[in-house]
Amino acid sequence: MTGRLLSIGECMVELMQAEGDLLRKGYAGDTFNTAYYARLFLPQDWSVDYLTAVGTDTVSGEMLAFIEKTGVGTSHIRRVEGRTPGLYMIHLKDGERSFSYWRSVSAAKTLADDADHLRAAIEASDILVFSGITLAILAPTAVETLLSELRRAKAEGKLVVFDPNIRPRLWDDKQYMLETISAGARASSLVMPSFDDEAAHFGDTDIAATIARYRGLGVDNIVVKDGPNGVTLSFGSNEPQFVPAAKVTKIVDTTSAGDSFNGAFLARYGVDGNPVAAAQFAARIAAGVIGHHGALVSKDKLQAAF
Ligand code: ADP
Repeated sequence: MTGRLLSIGECMVELMQAEGDLLRKGYAGDTFNTAYYARLFLPQDWSVDYLTAVGTDTVSGEMLAFIEKTGVGTSHIRRVEGRTPGLYMIHLKDGERSFSYWRSVSAAKTLADDADHLRAAIEASDILVFSGITLAILAPTAVETLLSELRRAKAEGKLVVFDPNIRPRLWDDKQYMLETISAGARASSLVMPSFDDEAAHFGDTDIAATIARYRGLGVDNIVVKDGPNGVTLSFGSNEPQFVPAAKVTKIVDTTSAGDSFNGAFLARYGVDGNPVAAAQFAARIAAGVIGHHGALVSKDKLQAAF
């Protein structure tokens, strides 16, 4: 089976400490990272595209060139005059990472402003991917534009995939955050939350509570990720199934563990519809990613995982 995957969200410029005061430039963001890993592992006759908005400035052009080099398509990315991409800096102190963000007026905030463009891109795709971060950066009217298109895609039987990725600092109001995350889930046919986040913000006492809550919102398929404790799958009318995490010999950098899991999972599940095999594969890839620096690990470094 062949298909078209579209991931929707914000890719940012990343500045990371190199030597002394020198900084190295990269590009990353949860939904882009997921697209990157889906592209690595989907067959070549599948297309993987990213939908966001960037500016018309130099760094926006560089970001598009970078995305294209990874094999992820950019034809659905709008260029908006007068805006630039969001930016974040990673500070490393005694092995601990902390982040500063400049994203409050990023171009990506306008990704749903052209409803016709958004609809055409979604109509041209079979698997749609978005996250709680995608929703957090949008104004309420733009959230509604995006979710109404995704609800239509779900109703047509497309696979609409949502990672709640709850980041409270991106939201002004906790109640609005919880309501909007829940609305995102309602528009989806597969939700892939991290249990830690769900427990912290929705007060879920165990994984069964997370599954029950998303089921209650009309989500048919759920993958609850729980770091080194593995994942629990609840698919259709099947009993929940547990898939353990893979062994990591040395944890180097946990950035994008969840995103790489999502991308690798979709690359397998999208092709054969077998969630257990997809989760086993994704656990091996996420473990490989954790064993290397950076959000986007190259395929040759992950060879041992597949
Ligand atoms: P997120 O990064 O979104 O918070 P998790 O921490 O749950 O997501 O991790 C996503 C996946 O990465 C897990 O389901 C698991 O497969 C893998 N993973 C994360 N931490 C570890 C670890 N310490 N050892 C092995 N696998 C891990």
